[in-house]
Amino acid sequence: MKSIVVANWKMNPPTFRAAKKLLEVTKKSAERSGALIVVAPPAIFLRELRQLYRGKRLAYAVQNAHFEGSGAYTGEISLQQAHDAGASYVVIGHAERRAMGESEDDTRKKVAAALARSMTPILCVGEKSRSASGEYFGVVKQQLRAGFTNVPAGKVARVIVAYEPIWAIGAEAAMSPRDMHEMSIFIRKTIVEMHGELGHRVVILYGGSIDEKNAGEMLRLGDVRGLLVGRASADPVRVSALLRSL
Ligand code: PEP
Repeated sequence: MKSIVVANWKMNPPTFRAAKKLLEVTKKSAERSGALIVVAPPAIFLRELRQLYRGKRLAYAVQNAHFEGSGAYTGEISLQQAHDAGASYVVIGHAERRAMGESEDDTRKKVAAALARSMTPILCVGEKSRSASGEYFGVVKQQLRAGFTNVPAGKVARVIVAYEPIWAIGAEAAMSPRDMHEMSIFIRKTIVEMHGELGHRVVILYGGSIDEKNAGEMLRLGDVRGLLVGRASADPVRVSALLRSL
């Protein structure tokens, strides 16, 4: 099965020219890697990038979108607008958006709205910190329960879950594949408890300080279908090294 790499450029690069260069490198490396690359650029670059660079190995996401179809939401974009500009995926509940106030209620509505628009939601979950008592499982369970509450039975397997422990985002090192393996089992179990056997088919990604040195091992041993990559995806040299390493 093809692995998936979500390239979350965050608020980078600074110009459209640099974005074109980054995408050109990403596309070339994607073709060689055999993985599906879902590029999540700043929304302002999306339509033009999509027109310039298409391909079987390349899809597009927005880093966030509103669940309402239209209205008085200054500064927001709707899922319909994102889709119209070329996005088929939407990142929901990224830790940086949650830190800016995105609530469980928002993630619930966004996942359901994305599915209703035939877009693929990438629901991000992950705890701030870990302690030996294992309370972080409860945090992840609550985030999953919120995100999956309004998912119709037939669409459960269309949701992608990106597990991103906040302590590993923008950090020095990623979580170990062994710990990810344990978390993948927990995530599936939680979704199966809510929605039955279909929960086994949910695609799980890992995100947090992935680079060319740890990506392959995480894919082999972490029980994940893919990776959500921040910093290393927004640098032409690093992204090509990362994709080459797969
Ligand atoms: C992210 O933005 O979700 C992320 C995983 O960032 P980084 O790869 O830089 O840790």
